[in-house]
Formats: sequence, C-alpha cells, structure tokens
Amino acid sequence: MTTGSQEAAQLLAGAKRLVVKVGSSLVAGGEIFRHDGLAGDLASWPQSLVLISSGAVALGHRAAPQLSKTTLVERQALSAIGQPLLMARWEQALGGANARTAQVLLTPDVTDDPQRRDNARATLETVLQAGLLPVVNENDTVATDELRYGDNDRLAAQTAALVGADVLVLLSDVDGYFAADPNKDPGAAHWPVIPPAVLADPAAHVPEDKSALGTGGMRSKMEAARLAVEAGIPAIIASGRGRGPLKALARGEVRASVALLP
Ligand code: GLU
Repeated sequence: MTTGSQEAAQLLAGAKRLVVKVGSSLVAGGEIFRHDGLAGDLASWPQSLVLISSGAVALGHRAAPQLSKTTLVERQALSAIGQPLLMARWEQALGGANARTAQVLLTPDVTDDPQRRDNARATLETVLQAGLLPVVNENDTVATDELRYGDNDRLAAQTAALVGADVLVLLSDVDGYFAADPNKDPGAAHWPVIPPAVLADPAAHVPEDKSALGTGGMRSKMEAARLAVEAGIPAIIASGRGRGPLKALARGEVRASVALLP
C-alpha cells in the first residue's frame, strides 16, 4: 500500500519553486531550527524557496506570559513581541553572521488588490534573486478580525499562487491527512492522496480542530490545499519533525498526503 511518500517525492522532483509552511507547534518545539533539522534543508535547498513561518504569537507569549492570547489586541501585541524573535531564530538557524533571510508581512488587503499584489510579488522575486530566503507571516499586529487570512495555511496557499510555486508543502506535527485525528485515535486511517470530495468541501468532512499553539488544524490545511489546487498548485501535507524532513520527503523516505490536481 502506498504511504504517499512516492507521490510527494515525485511532486518535489519536478518542482522549480516551493512554498513551505511551518506551523506554530514546530516553531515552539524548536528542533526545526537545528542544522540537522528543517533549517539545514532550507539553507541548502537547490531550488527557489519561500518560507511561511507561524510562531510569532507563540514566541511572544513565551517572552511575555503576562499577556493572554484571548483578546485580539493581546494577540496583536504578542505578535509584535514575537515576530522579531521569530526572525532572529530563522536568521541564526540559516547562517548567523550574514543576512540570509528577508521578512515579508502580508495581509489580505495586499494580496486581494491587483497593484499591491504585483508590488508584493516584485519584492519577493527581488529577494529571491538576491539569494535570500523570504520568510512570510501575516502582519498580525495590524490585521484585525475583519481583515485576516485567519491562519497561515491560507496565507501559504495565497503566497504559493502569488509567486507561481510548483508545489505547496504544509509542514506540521502530523504526517498527512487521516480519517480521524491521529492524536486521539492512533488507529485512524492515513490517506496518501487526499480524496477529491474532502478537497471540494473540507468543512463537510473535517471537524474544526484548532491546534493548541497556532490557529490552524487539519480543516484549515484542507482549505489551503483546496485553494492551492484551484490555483493549479498541488500540495503536500507532511511532518516537519526529525532529521532533514524536507530532504527525506524529496527522497521518498517519509509518509505524507498529497492533494493532486484534478
Ligand atoms: N500568524 C500567526 C503567528 O505567527 C500564526 C497563525 C497560524 O497559526 O496559522 O503566530
């Protein structure tokens, strides 16, 4: 039986440009910043790459636990505190002394407006051509409830469409799409290829299951995969944990789920 590993490896083999998203739980766990973790893979990835990184609110909360995450204004303050810490962690993990990363903060009013969208695209292209890694997050400090992607899975899909990525890779602490939450039901069936019916209507098939640290969950990953596929971009759901998780995915060594174009 396939585990999705071959499907994922095939998608990555042909990809000239990737958008890779990491969730808050991976950032908070910390192992992705090690040189034998995801950071090492990103630093030496041979093709063009844009990183979407959550974790500003999670790191901000660690630094300022006197603020709670319950109100919008506190989450905005936490992201203001955590975003520079997040960038410092990526910058250090990817090289240290020289600038290796560029911070790009987006909101839907930018990506929904044709002219501002073009400007954002040109900025990202210029950063890529200069050989740096764009690290994208939502501009949480100014994004209000009415004006939010809501979760970085959706932001990742929008960014993948913006930069014309060949594949969107959503990395978290689960290694694919399961028939039920594998944390609650260890025997839940793993789907190597996400069923078209699930992609067509995630809300009807996937319960809302917000993660403890971020705002996403499997439902939002399916929504993002649907957005990506609609934009002509296949998606991979995989784990970002362990040694060299992106390269292991490219070698077909780890389990994953893929959302394929119809
Ligand atoms: N933009 C939020 C942050 O960096 C995370 C949103 C999400 O969890 O998807 O903390």
